[in-house]
Amino acid sequence: MSSNPRPKPVPTNHPEVAPYFQAGLRNELRIKKCGDCNTFQAYPQKNCGNCLSRNNIWIRVSGKGKIYSYTEVRQTPGPAFAADVPFVLAFVELDEADGIRIMSRIVDVDPRDVYVEMPVQVVFERREDEATGAYAVPNFKPATPRE
Ligand SMILES: [Zn+2]
Repeated sequence: MSSNPRPKPVPTNHPEVAPYFQAGLRNELRIKKCGDCNTFQAYPQKNCGNCLSRNNIWIRVSGKGKIYSYTEVRQTPGPAFAADVPFVLAFVELDEADGIRIMSRIVDVDPRDVYVEMPVQVVFERREDEATGAYAVPNFKPATPRE
């Protein structure tokens, strides 16, 4: 039995998202980019959302961005998250990916200290699953100030 009872993100009929969760094991955030029209895509899809090309490649991005919008979750969405409430769920706009926004949790911060435009950086939550092995879920935390 797993020590972490949180539900696993399941690729279901979209096996192309598996590399997204595998990259996190190497502390890498990867986003798909169209090789024909250079459009970034989030969430990962088989076809480009702009030109429908299947010529998509995984691009490693810095994992730095800023909060575009957020909400504070105060009521647990299920028993696996009961110990986490309150927590922040946000859209993070990535620095170098043409304004791509990905939904994620904001961790290592008091929810009262979160604000729109807050600089954040990716941090990975490693999980184990008996059926498929290890994977990592990208979360974000406040960025360390530049010196
Ligand atoms: Zn395209």
